[in-house]
Amino acid sequence: PIELALPRVRESLRSEVVWGSRVVAVGGGAPVVVQSMTNTDTEQAVETALQVKELALAGSEMVRITVNTPEAAKAVPYIREQLDRMGIDVPLIGDFHFNGHRLLTEFPDCAQALSKYRINPGNVGKGDKHDRQFGQMIEAAVRWNKAIRIGVNWGSLDQELLASMMDENSRRAVPWDAKPVMYEALIASAIGSAKLAESMGMPARQIALSCKVSGVRDLIAVYRELGRRCNYPLHLGLTEAGMGTKGTVASSTALGVLLQEGIGDTIRVSLTPAPGESRTQEVVIASEILQSLGLRTFVPSVTACPGCGRTTSTTFQELTQQIDDFLRAQMPVWRVRYPGVEHLKVAVMGCIVNGPGESKHADIGISLPGTGEAPAAPVFIDGEKRMTLRGENIATDFQKVVEDYIAQ
Ligand code: SF4
Repeated sequence: PIELALPRVRESLRSEVVWGSRVVAVGGGAPVVVQSMTNTDTEQAVETALQVKELALAGSEMVRITVNTPEAAKAVPYIREQLDRMGIDVPLIGDFHFNGHRLLTEFPDCAQALSKYRINPGNVGKGDKHDRQFGQMIEAAVRWNKAIRIGVNWGSLDQELLASMMDENSRRAVPWDAKPVMYEALIASAIGSAKLAESMGMPARQIALSCKVSGVRDLIAVYRELGRRCNYPLHLGLTEAGMGTKGTVASSTALGVLLQEGIGDTIRVSLTPAPGESRTQEVVIASEILQSLGLRTFVPSVTACPGCGRTTSTTFQELTQQIDDFLRAQMPVWRVRYPGVEHLKVAVMGCIVNGPGESKHADIGISLPGTGEAPAAPVFIDGEKRMTLRGENIATDFQKVVEDYIAQ
């Protein structure tokens, strides 16, 4: 028989990102975690707290905020307080560059209010200064018992390390191309910094790594190698993925390949939102990537045919959209009220060709009438035809049938 293509499993340490009684496990066989990042000015504490809340309610299980100035560091405890007051216990990750050592040392309330620190070794100074400043950040993480992510990015790669590796490469009998040397430098920077952190007292199990690049095949190559060379949990994301369809497809392609190979313990889809577009879109896409691979289940799945010449009206598209929106909107309440509801399968089909068959495979399905068919929509529940909907209000009637089914 044909075997299911189950994702491979990569052995890794398990890190814990904690806020209050909320513990998010990362790696070590824990479910892959969805995370996202705010795009508000952190100094604007209320605005930032509201966006964190929005992202958390959309399904982000950790939210990163940039901490770039003393004012932003001062705002962090206030943001945390606002979230706690709203009942949002999502762990906050502080994103530090250049002055992170000073901010974490001079603002202990900020250091404590965060659950994890993202440290970019390419932006922590040069030479001796690098080790001293890096050490100050590790000291804060150890003192406050926080997890860290060593987040390397090819846009801010440690230039001294890259130059020395390029130099070494030029002495090879047959020098490599520049790109593989850069891959090596990314991985060396991440693993080297993690080892340095460990030598400074950071527990290995509290360190996660990332090596972000913006090309799909580059990301796959780098993470395959990174995953092979260490057992730290890995944060996965295609950096600067871009906007809309391009960003969505590129992220899904890269992350899909790696997750199927067991590489990636937390993910972020780094989309540039279109003007006016909600930041939560990146959370929805990240969740969908995990759900489509069968790694997590967040919301009921809606199976729908694409529609064709047999569907002349827009009723079919409208109904599919309405049911999808309805199910997502109910989830924050349903998740608590009806445990397991996320495993529900709903089918919305456009005509009799595949409609009844696909509907029978779902928990609940409807086959709308195509052109030339009688104006009736049979509804299938648990594989059997149970009723037929007719008239103007099929969409609303079907929504009620779904709601009743879930309640029962
Ligand atoms: Fe077209 Fe019917 Fe197939 Fe949908 S189920 S794509 S409407 S033939």
